[in-house]
Amino acid sequence: MIKSLNEVVNLLVSFATQKKHTMNNTTFTMIKPDATEKGHTGAILQKINEAGFRIVAMKMTHLSTAKASEFYEVHKERPFYGELVEFMSRGAITAAILEKENAVEEFRKLIGATNPAQADEGTIRKLFAASIGENAIHGSDSNENAKIEGDFFFSKLEQF
Ligand code: ADP
Ligand code: MG
Repeated sequence: MIKSLNEVVNLLVSFATQKKHTMNNTTFTMIKPDATEKGHTGAILQKINEAGFRIVAMKMTHLSTAKASEFYEVHKERPFYGELVEFMSRGAITAAILEKENAVEEFRKLIGATNPAQADEGTIRKLFAASIGENAIHGSDSNENAKIEGDFFFSKLEQF
């Protein structure tokens, strides 16, 4: 039996927290400069929407060389690092945090393989990417990186 208003509030809070833990699984994405230049932003957002992702945060922005270097720091020893930084800072991107159950894995499935030639039919990279470097879209590879990458672009006040 519920005894007090306090108890009701506590029950509601615990329910809300529990719900958040099972539902609030997020990933981070960027529509890359190649896709922006080709005018694919709207079509890509539509695919994301149709796949059932909720937009938690979104902005169109432009990475400076310094910011792109920082974002891709994990790849700094790889041979394509310089090329990648140059590409990612050459034009506007659309950055977003997306929510869905099992968001990281589901989003990687939606975007397809890094190399569009190897991406499955119907994936965003198959449809919109030109090459392994200019591959239209980013998707986080783990929950931990999704959080780091989302926080790189968005303050708490910008995440809904
Ligand atoms: P993904 O974006 O699928 O997680 P990676 O994390 O391995 O792929 O690489 C990060 C990004 O670096 C890729 O999305 C792509 O833009 C670029 N990249 C990866 N491999 C190459 C390559 N061999 N040559 C040029 N650019 C590459
Ligand atoms: Mg990656």
